Amino acid sequence: MARKSGQTGFFSRNIQVIYTTEYDDSYVLETIAADDMTSLKHAIFGKQERMIETMFNHDFEDLSAGMLVTERTVKIRKLNKKIGDNLKLLYNYHCQICGESIGEEYDSQIVEAHHIDYFVTSLNNDSINQMIVCPNHHSIIHDTNPIFDRRQLQYIYINGLEQRLVLNQHL
Ligand SMILES: [Zn+2]
Ligand SMILES: [Zn+2]
Repeated sequence: MARKSGQTGFFSRNIQVIYTTEYDDSYVLETIAADDMTSLKHAIFGKQERMIETMFNHDFEDLSAGMLVTERTVKIRKLNKKIGDNLKLLYNYHCQICGESIGEEYDSQIVEAHHIDYFVTSLNNDSINQMIVCPNHHSIIHDTNPIFDRRQLQYIYINGLEQRLVLNQHL
């Protein structure tokens, strides 16, 4: 079969992406190639949010993705991880929901960055879309899918439980 030509062309469309950070007055400006964004969309299509977040939190490679896709998405993942890592520092590895630093007595910092609007659908890396949570609360959120009320800064669970964030410096 003949290869289709004229699809890629010589024009590389770039997207300027501005991310919010943990500081009110600081932003990260990044130029991301349109191809990178397309690759990322393909790479995460149909994947579980939890798995994508695990990749972001721990810098895992998705071995099922092709080499090219992996190379193209590394930049976006690194940026996401950087914003999450900075937020973890801001909260000194404490969960914003319960205030606990689980693992502290073991010198283990196992807190995780959660995307309020799921990244698989929002593709939103902004710090205002990320929350720092302990592994237990992270699992509970993904298990029960509560609604996040941004005005009250609280999660509303299906059983009616309302839980305000005990720690917040950036939302
Ligand atoms: Zn917690
Ligand atoms: Zn999450």
